[in-house]
Amino acid sequence: MSKAFGCPKCKRPVANRNRAECLYCGAALPEQVLFSPEERAQRERRLEQERAQSAAFEQELTQLKANLKSKKSWYQFWKKEER
Ligand SMILES: [Zn+2]
Repeated sequence: MSKAFGCPKCKRPVANRNRAECLYCGAALPEQVLFSPEERAQRERRLEQERAQSAAFEQELTQLKANLKSKKSWYQFWKKEER
């Protein structure tokens, strides 16, 4: 893993190994520079996990907001009663 990934044409480091061509000069990158299908699948799985986690978080937040809303309306109701 110590081998540096670089563009064969302009010799710049490859910033995005997900792209089939160099970001700087547009040269086609050799396969060994790009992610292997296995690495892609791993990345895909990780992204899937992150998506699931953020979806769960989103749901929690929505519920929390709903709770807060109901409390607020109760509070306002109470305020109105006092006046
Ligand atoms: Zn290049």
